[in-house]
Amino acid sequence: MSKQPSSYLSSKLEGRLKADKSGNSIYAIEPIKRGELIAVFGGVVYEWEDFIHLSEREKNVVHPSGRQTFLVPRPIGEGDYVNHSCNPNAGLSGQIGLVAMRDIKIGEEVCFDYAMSDTMDYDAFDCLCGASTCRGKVSGKDWMRPELQKRYAGHFAPHVQRKIDAMKAEQRAFEKAMRLAKSQKFVSVSNAG
Ligand SMILES: [Zn+2]
Repeated sequence: MSKQPSSYLSSKLEGRLKADKSGNSIYAIEPIKRGELIAVFGGVVYEWEDFIHLSEREKNVVHPSGRQTFLVPRPIGEGDYVNHSCNPNAGLSGQIGLVAMRDIKIGEEVCFDYAMSDTMDYDAFDCLCGASTCRGKVSGKDWMRPELQKRYAGHFAPHVQRKIDAMKAEQRAFEKAMRLAKSQKFVSVSNAG
C-alpha cells in the first residue's frame, strides 16, 4: 500500500504534537487568507455496521461523510489531525474540504467545530477548548443549535445541511399550521357572533 496519506494538507500548515503533548494538531506556518483551502480528507468509506468494529485509533480520526457513512483515513496523515474548537477558524467546504473561515496567522492552531459534520452521538466528549463560547460538551446534536446554524452557515457538511434544511422546513410548516389554526378560530368566533 502507498505510504502517501489519504488526506491532503496545504504546505502552509504542519502537523505536530501539541505543546502539552495531549495530542496532534495542525498549525499555520504561513499566513492563510479567509476562504483558502487548508485540507482535503480522504480514505475508505465505511457504513455504520462495519465502522463500529474498527479500532479506537481509527474511530478517533474518522470524518463523518454522510448520515450513516464514515471516511476512515488510510494511511493517517497530518491533514487528519484537525481538532475541534467551539470557536473555530476553519469550516467545511462540501463533504471533505476544509477552508479558512477567517484570516489565520502564523503559529495559530487550525480547528473546526465538529458540529459541522457530526450528527451521531458515538463520539460525544467533554470539551476543554477554552473558548469563551465553549459548549462544555460536544455531541452529535449540536448542529440543531440555531446560533451555530447561523455562525457556520455555508460551512456544514452536505448531510448536516440537509438535516438543517429539513428541520427549518418542519418549523415553517408548523408555524404556518398554527397561524392557520388561529385565523380559523378567529373566523369561527366572529361567525358565531
Ligand atoms: Zn469547546
